[in-house]
Amino acid sequence: MDLSKIRNFSIIAHVDHGKSTLADRILEFTGMVSRRELREQMLDTLDIERERGITIKLQAVKIKYKDYTLHLIDTPGHVDFSYEVSRALAACEGALLLVDATQGIQAQTVANFWKAVEQDLVIIPVINKIDLPSADPERVKRQIEEVLGIPGDEAILASAKEGIGIEEILKAIIERIPPPKGDPKAPLKALIFDSYYDPYRGAVAFVRIVDGEVRPGMKIRLFSTGKEFEVTEVGAQMPKMTKLEKLSAGEVGYIAASIKDVRDIRIGDTITDAKNPAKEPVPGFRPVKPMVFAGIYPSEGYTYEELRDALEKYAINDAAIVYEPETSPALGLGFRVGFLGLLHMEIVQERLEREYGVSIVTTAPSVVYRVRLKNGQVKEIKNPSELPENMGLVEAIEEPYVLVTIIVPKDFVGNVINLCQEKRGIQKRFLYLDPNTAMLEYEMPLSEIIMDFHDKIKGVSKGYASYDYEFIGYREEDLVKLTVFINNEPVDALSFIVHRDKAYRRARQIVEKLKEVVPRQLFEVKVQAGIGNRIIASERIPPLRANVTAKCYGGDVTRKKKLLEKQKEGKKRLKQFGKVELPQEAFLTVLKVD
Ligand code: GDP
Ligand code: MG
Repeated sequence: MDLSKIRNFSIIAHVDHGKSTLADRILEFTGMVSRRELREQMLDTLDIERERGITIKLQAVKIKYKDYTLHLIDTPGHVDFSYEVSRALAACEGALLLVDATQGIQAQTVANFWKAVEQDLVIIPVINKIDLPSADPERVKRQIEEVLGIPGDEAILASAKEGIGIEEILKAIIERIPPPKGDPKAPLKALIFDSYYDPYRGAVAFVRIVDGEVRPGMKIRLFSTGKEFEVTEVGAQMPKMTKLEKLSAGEVGYIAASIKDVRDIRIGDTITDAKNPAKEPVPGFRPVKPMVFAGIYPSEGYTYEELRDALEKYAINDAAIVYEPETSPALGLGFRVGFLGLLHMEIVQERLEREYGVSIVTTAPSVVYRVRLKNGQVKEIKNPSELPENMGLVEAIEEPYVLVTIIVPKDFVGNVINLCQEKRGIQKRFLYLDPNTAMLEYEMPLSEIIMDFHDKIKGVSKGYASYDYEFIGYREEDLVKLTVFINNEPVDALSFIVHRDKAYRRARQIVEKLKEVVPRQLFEVKVQAGIGNRIIASERIPPLRANVTAKCYGGDVTRKKKLLEKQKEGKKRLKQFGKVELPQEAFLTVLKVD
């Protein structure tokens, strides 16, 4: 194929600014789908995406327009899924940066803009939703100039909903975005930027062909492992999976090669020709580093093996997840799973249950702490229960810090500043993007963000504040381990690490919360929290009193006494042997405190 006739672009923006809707309109305008076939946000194919109205996974489609071939990649907007955006951008030469004409620039607009700049992409700003009465495209143009440094008149005015500006956008894609470079005659080099598991095709790799070409029947080799496979099918989503004769330099599409083991397809790896291999792989992407870990255990009625199978299958569709087996005295055999953030965790949990048919219990998420021991060793702690029992061995505990960027209307600035201070934030920058919109930057412990920052900041800003964050490094803090005891037994899955200044308040809140959510038993339940073995908060959940005496209509006092006697014994036994069944809610109480 003539490279000068190819254009590869991603659509990037803040959540809800209209990326998936614009993709719909482009597919419709170019005749790739008929009006009859079109569903809203049709590239959001997962059930969970359609229900929540958010994009989680990138989607690459091939579009024929005039005599051009366009590869469009729709991306998610939420901060947890920014790894999807980076990978999508690696397959492109340009990006459409959408900005909602009513909201203006938001936190992920800025974050995604910088991702595209880092990859040297041509950026086409598009001001979307101009059909809305509250649209203020002139204000957004000024913001684009001020904040992103792109001349405002380069922005295209559009309404993805009404189909305004679509032709102009396509024209800009062809005129402003350069065609891909690459040598169709050179040995095959294909960058894997996404993968999924298909019951018929096996593990399928989505690739950007950098050099050479690939056809069915060809023997391919994966650079990282050296494993070889025979290609069974190549093609592209148009937007349905469509077989093609070949994929060649500059193109985006999929390769299937009856790959059974999902772990053979690694995101960022290079596929080459086994007979005529390329010398160097394509530089991959920085591997993703999950920041938040939680335990996942099979619920009552499901086995460890079932959970393992589900996780393995799930992992091929989600390049960001990592997991390893773990044993908990309270919960048995399970996994410690790494996530990009809380939304990611919620989605994984829901998809495992709905799409992979296991029911699970998730423990409270924790960041990865770094513990420096006095003997010079450094340990990474993904589970607070791994903290050494003997704190005398510990030199210092470090926790991950992030730089948080917040964009908020000026009326809520005071509230946001108060919240950030409460969250141990250190202000780094405070400026106005325009007379009504402030941008703040804070350095903050990641643990404070995963606690409840999202709900809190939305709460104090009536939903108007948006934020994004990136990891900036580890810092030493005065941290202690809080252990929760239920009837004097430490519950590993409920222990967590907290700043010493907040330990008392948190301990109190947690035992109170647990008192609410742990169902009353036939025996008394003691709920306590302590630093080491020193209890600093305690609550009692009174027993359910099975009213045995009610049966002895009146009179017979000795019989009544006997029964009460018996009941007491029973209670003692239960206390001793009985195990309190904790509901899932209990494991998340650690997060739900004010
Ligand atoms: P994404 O998160 O960026 O992919 O955004 P979506 O495409 O899912 O759109 C988010 C919401 O904005 C949906 O309810 C869309 O119907 C709506 N929307 C998208 N584009 C427009 C537009 O141009 N005008 C109006 N009024 N609504 C739009
Ligand atoms: Mg979307």
